[in-house]
Amino acid sequence: MSQETSNYQSKFMQIAIQEATSNVTTGAGGPFGSVVVKDGVVIAQGHNQVLENNDPTAHGEVMAIRAACAKLGTHDLSGCQLYTNAYPCPMCLSAIIWANIKTTYYGNNAQDAAAIGFRDDYIYDYIKDGCTDIAVLKLEQHERAATMAPFSAFAASSTKQLY
Ligand SMILES: [Zn+2]
Repeated sequence: MSQETSNYQSKFMQIAIQEATSNVTTGAGGPFGSVVVKDGVVIAQGHNQVLENNDPTAHGEVMAIRAACAKLGTHDLSGCQLYTNAYPCPMCLSAIIWANIKTTYYGNNAQDAAAIGFRDDYIYDYIKDGCTDIAVLKLEQHERAATMAPFSAFAASSTKQLY
């Protein structure tokens, strides 16, 4: 990363840290918080709510992205940046990319998360190894031809919208 071209602003990371810290006392989820920023303004913030919502996908980044999309009325967060106190897990990294966010500023890393008991590294290692470790997840393919029918219908649709 080139320091001179970074638009990083510490004040937004402080909000992400506050979101993460509040979880330690509320118990809503792990110590993770995120902020979506556009044109120097906070669009939305979020914190991990996995335990509170009984939702394993309710990570801080996902919650902030959902709130930002709801606020802006779009699935496309082009032009936004995301601040997060911890390096994004594979799910959140994907969510950030699906949202078309092109810059993410993170604080600590996956090893730091592992040191307090979170499994980000476990998932990254599984992907790095080609998703073959069945002790982590058994991925089996069946019925490719039959499952291609909705793909063919989508490809032929004149009203389809890609994202
Ligand atoms: Zn995550």
